[in-house]
Parts: sequence; structure tokens; C-alpha cells
Amino acid sequence: MIIIMKSNHTDDQLREVSARVKALGSSPHMIHGETHITISVIGETKHIGSEAFAGLDGIERVVRISKPYKLAAKAARPEGTRIRVGGVEIGRGGFLVMAGPCSVESEDQTLRIARAVKAAGANVLRGGAFKPRSSPYAFQGLGDEGLKILAKAREETGLPIISEALDMQGLELVARYADIIQIGARNMQNFPLLKALGKLNVPILLKRGMSATIEEWLMSAEYILAGGNEKVMLCERGIRSFDVQHSRNTLDLNAVPILKSLTHLPVIVDPSHGTGFRHLVSPMALAGMAAGADGIIVEVHDRPEEALSDGPQALLPSDFEDLMGKVEKMGPVLGVEVASTSRSGKRNAA
Ligand code: PEP
Ligand code: MN
Repeated sequence: MIIIMKSNHTDDQLREVSARVKALGSSPHMIHGETHITISVIGETKHIGSEAFAGLDGIERVVRISKPYKLAAKAARPEGTRIRVGGVEIGRGGFLVMAGPCSVESEDQTLRIARAVKAAGANVLRGGAFKPRSSPYAFQGLGDEGLKILAKAREETGLPIISEALDMQGLELVARYADIIQIGARNMQNFPLLKALGKLNVPILLKRGMSATIEEWLMSAEYILAGGNEKVMLCERGIRSFDVQHSRNTLDLNAVPILKSLTHLPVIVDPSHGTGFRHLVSPMALAGMAAGADGIIVEVHDRPEEALSDGPQALLPSDFEDLMGKVEKMGPVLGVEVASTSRSGKRNAA
């Protein structure tokens, strides 16, 4: 259940409504929207009818939410969530392009690729310092050293950075450096980690688990929101399917408009992990954008044959530049603002 306050409600009225929610045995959770404050009534609400709030002033409407997620539900913030990263906004028409290598491999490699993606117009630099690998013998990431390299690349290019946190220990480190914390597919239901993310005030990119339903994914987002962190983006990165001969995963683009109808949180598409093959990445990035995504996250490597992870799905810088040209052309058609950092010197996100 959510209570939408009138735009001209007073502080006293807000206090009284909150007190009534508590008296009913639930807890009030405020969401500050563009024009209205919404109070989500968290807890067992089956026994509470809208008449429980009769006689209280300042309320515009009481809406019952039948979904198990309340704070992530579209009704909690119908205008959509907008998140600021560096100088760029994502959501409600702001389109974010994150690009960079799968893994931070060395300072030289990261700086070369950072310069290339910046020149092509990316808004955020990606790079994993802690890598979740299927094999314990595969490259596990440079750890702390990798984060320092990313910080250096940020300093030089002005691009904010996104990097993955794998566990609680790593989270503390990643939170110290990253502008966006990525939670990978394998950790979508790591509930202690999700609870810890709720206590931070850093944007989170929550990737979809490889076999997670949309509802399970939204419930994971709800964990972060319930902890008090409202800056959550959802990332579709492909789901496991039966045909792995031609693509690594099946990029579920149905999820984009489905999520748009269910939640106010921004939706990002990852066509790199969603497909696993370079030649599929640009078409599916554009398809994701056309489906209504608020941004894309794309792996780029200038020497993919030497990459320590995910080389086959990395775009070359020239492919990425070509993709960015198309993304910029599609922006006005779709009514979204692509805040390119440097291509033709339009808007500087740094
Ligand atoms: C990645 O972004 O490099 C990654 C490991 O992603 P995912 O969690 O989607 O597999
Ligand atoms: Mn990768």
C-alpha cells in the first residue's frame, strides 16, 4: 500500500500520516518524487484498508499495491527515477552509455581504452577489478590495484567509473573508488550484500541473475531500496537458454518494456554478456535502446585477442565509435537525450 500526499501537504500532516502507519503496526518509507511525497506502507498490510487513513488531511490518494515489491513498484514514483552520475543524468529521458574493458588488466591497457571510449562519446568507464570467473584458474582481477588504475583513468578522462563488487570485503574497497557499484548476475540474490548496498549512497547497477525471473530481480532491487538507497538501476544481461551455439545467452529484450511497466527504476541493457559475440553487440545495443532502455553497458577492447576475459564479445574502439554515431542519431527519434562526452564536442559530462 502507498499513500500519495498532496503536493501542498504540511509537515504536520506528513507526521500524522506516518504516525498512523506506525500505529497500524507497519513502517512508513518516504519517497520524494518530483511533485509529490509518497509513503510506502511496509510490513503486513492485508488487514489495513484505505479507511484506516480517513480523517487525515494532506492525503491525495491511497493505492493498494498487490505486488510483493513496494518501493520498486511503478506506483511508488510514476514519473520514473532519475539518477545523477558525474555530470550526467540517467532515467526519465537521460540515456547513459557505459563502456570499457571487461577487466582492468594493466594501467596502460585501461588508459588506452578509457581514452578511446571517451573520444567516442561514452559517459562512464567500465572495468572489473574483482572478476567472478567460472574457473578458479582464470584471471581473477587485479583487485585493489585495479581500482587504483580506474581512479587514474577517471582523473585523466573525467569519466566516472563503474566496477563490480563481489563480496562484502570487496564492497568496502569498491565503494571507496567507484561512482557506480556493479552487482553481477551471480550475486543478484546475495542478500547480505544487497542489504549492505542499501546502506550506501552510491548508485548501484543490479544485473539480472542468469536464471532469475523479473519478479525475483525486482525483489532484489527492493532489498537495496528498503535499506534506504534509492539509486538503483537494473541491467538486463541475458538469460540462460538452450541454444548456446550462436550466442552465449539470450538477451531478454522483453524485459525492458516489461520493467518499464512495473517499476520506476532505470533499465540498462548489456548486449556484450547478453550475446557473447562481437558481431551481435551493436545490433542488440541499438535494439535495447529502441525497446526503451535508459542506457547501455558495452565491453570494448583494443586488443581483444589478448584480453584476459571476454575478448570474443569486446567491440573494437572503431566498432564502438560507429555504434555511438548510431546511438546519437537514434536519441532524438526515441525522445531520449544522449549526453555524449566528447563526440563533436556537444555536451561535456565530466
Ligand atoms: C561483467 O560485467 O564483466 C560481468 C561479469 O557481468 P555478469 O555479471 O553480467 O556476467
Ligand atoms: Mn565481462
